[in-house]
Amino acid sequence: MGDDWDCVVVGGGVAGMSAALVLGRARRRTLVLDGGAQSNRVAEHVGGLLGNDGTPPAELYARAREELAAYDAVVVRSDEAVDARAEGDGFTVALGDGDEVRARVLILATGMDYEVPDVPGFREHWGRAVFHCPFCHGWEVRDRPLVVYGEGEHADMQAALLAGWSDDVTLVAPGELAELRTEEGALRAVVRTDGSEVPCEGILVHAPLRLRGSLPERLGLALTDHGLVSVDSFGRTSVPGVYAAGDLAVAPQQVAIALGSGHLAGVVAVRELLLDVPAEPATR
Ligand SMILES: Cc1cc2nc3c(=O)[nH]c(=O)nc-3n(C[C@H](O)[C@H](O)[C@H](O)COP(=O)(O)OP(=O)(O)OC[C@H]3O[C@@H](n4cnc5c(N)ncnc54)[C@H](O)[C@@H]3O)c2cc1C
Repeated sequence: MGDDWDCVVVGGGVAGMSAALVLGRARRRTLVLDGGAQSNRVAEHVGGLLGNDGTPPAELYARAREELAAYDAVVVRSDEAVDARAEGDGFTVALGDGDEVRARVLILATGMDYEVPDVPGFREHWGRAVFHCPFCHGWEVRDRPLVVYGEGEHADMQAALLAGWSDDVTLVAPGELAELRTEEGALRAVVRTDGSEVPCEGILVHAPLRLRGSLPERLGLALTDHGLVSVDSFGRTSVPGVYAAGDLAVAPQQVAIALGSGHLAGVVAVRELLLDVPAEPATR
């Protein structure tokens, strides 16, 4: 295939690959660019995705790539998009290896960076014993002694929520935590600065989200007050022809929601490509 595409999808997580599946099945020539750093890759499994509950993330992404390979119109390339700009009746996307490609529409699905609190041991347990989302990981630590790391209203709310999964939830404020105690790789306790220990097999933390890379800025996309790319209910951004799906545009940030938003962006992009207007999907 040449370097002119109907659609370039930037990001090959569930959002981007779900959009690409819709485009491929609609026979639209689609290039998926992917850095291969989906945010849940470190986790042991995907929690809460119907039909794939408990599937290891790497397995889910490999299967999704296999499904896309069945469609001639879709090409997945392991490369980064480093720049994107509107040009003529479409967009030019610059790749990390120096290539440039053209597309009539763009779908951004680059995910978000989750900022893990800078506490010794948190990175090592991230996505398993240290987690940010009870809906993703709460089931696996149900009925165990748990800690909410944080303070203030948000931490109080997280502790009240986590009580749905365990009766043993302790709030530990940042100034109080000295270190984590692990045994054979398993989290066993939080050690307080006064030397006391809180038995603990799971820690819920607040992990602020940050946009990945500069494509939204380079394309001049409007952002929400919460720092997400602003989209309407069909995944259209403030720039005609540019869609955004998944974590960078849709909250709460979870796999099923990212996947659905990618599918929707794919449907609306196909309609734009075939009907020449950014038409809203008809209700049937
Ligand atoms: C540790 C952890 C565990 C989680 N566990 C769960 C769970 O169990 N259940 C659940 O529902 N949710 C879970 N989540 C949330 C879930 O991972 C996200 O909601 C989901 O991955 C978002 O999908 P996405 O496609 O938007 O982004 P991502 O999955 O992050 O994929 C984005 C892709 O875009 C690529 N990319 C970024 N920039 C570029 C670029 N410039 N060029 C090319 N490629 C680029 C990245 O390399 C990446 O492959 C978890 C999150 C974390 C951090």
